[in-house]
Amino acid sequence: MEVKTVVEVEIEAGEDAAARCENCGSTRIHAARVRTAFWDDDRLVVIEDIPALVCETCHERYFDDATVTVLDLMRGDGFPAERARREINVPVFSFDDRLVPRGS
Ligand SMILES: [Zn+2]
Repeated sequence: MEVKTVVEVEIEAGEDAAARCENCGSTRIHAARVRTAFWDDDRLVVIEDIPALVCETCHERYFDDATVTVLDLMRGDGFPAERARREINVPVFSFDDRLVPRGS
């Protein structure tokens, strides 16, 4: 039934632009699949294909309750490596390397 709520929101956003971004007030909101990355202890984890409503003006993302629940369940599962679709290499940078050395 919570999924049904999402459909209603999508219809509002698509047909009469009744959905309004809580962040910037824009009505230019569309349904999309997004991805996000976050730290799980010392592991960086990426989740993709997350259904969301995205504001085209400020890029704020909105997730419905059912989606948030699934994300919490995934987090609770601990992201076992054997369930990952794939792995990616992630470049790591240090803020310090961009600083101009003192004395130069
Ligand atoms: Zn916005």
